[in-house]
Amino acid sequence: MMEDYQFRQAMGKFATGVTVITTEVEEEVYGMTANAFMSVSLDPKLVVISIGEKAQMLERIKKSQKFAVNILAADQKELSMIFAGQIEEGKEVPFSRLGDYPVIEGAAAQITCEVSSEHVEGDHTLFIGRVTNIHLTEANPLIFYSGRYRSLEEEEVSAI
Ligand code: FAD
Repeated sequence: MMEDYQFRQAMGKFATGVTVITTEVEEEVYGMTANAFMSVSLDPKLVVISIGEKAQMLERIKKSQKFAVNILAADQKELSMIFAGQIEEGKEVPFSRLGDYPVIEGAAAQITCEVSSEHVEGDHTLFIGRVTNIHLTEANPLIFYSGRYRSLEEEEVSAI
């Protein structure tokens, strides 16, 4: 019998970046840390995010029908922890704007999307996002695996 912890451990072996998904509902800005993010299609440009049924972000994106994926930079671990509810609330977060969307300043990449479709799968909802705008910086990304934050330098095996 496959246990939950075994599934979690196996998924944790898949090293990822860390994103903060941002959206805006009735002029209030919200963020949520997520690593379930993937590029789906180049033409048209589509991405997917996966939001748990218990996350408040679920209703927020259903309402706004738009979101931004902010790929965190290596020095933004604290932001990841804030938006995962792992450290105390009440911190002022420096949001900026990309067009009509709230985004995280200093992120390695900011990708704004309109919801193209949503699919409920088990206890998560997959949102397919049609990419409307992108902003890139030179920053290295923050890395996450086996339940820990890492930096790319530490993990570098060899230069290509
Ligand atoms: P809330 O509980 O409302 O918000 C989360 C936190 O963000 C709160 O502490 C809140 O104070 C803070 N916050 C929100 N908006 C603001 C603001 N404007 N200014 C300052 N602080 C603010 N869950 C998934 O569903 N999918 C994933 O892919 C996923 N990946 C994860 C990856 C990692 C590395 C981690 C650590 C967690 C991941 N989670 C994921 C879990 C998810 O981040 C947490 O369950 C989160 O707390 C859910 O937030 P919420 O939408 O319920 O919103």
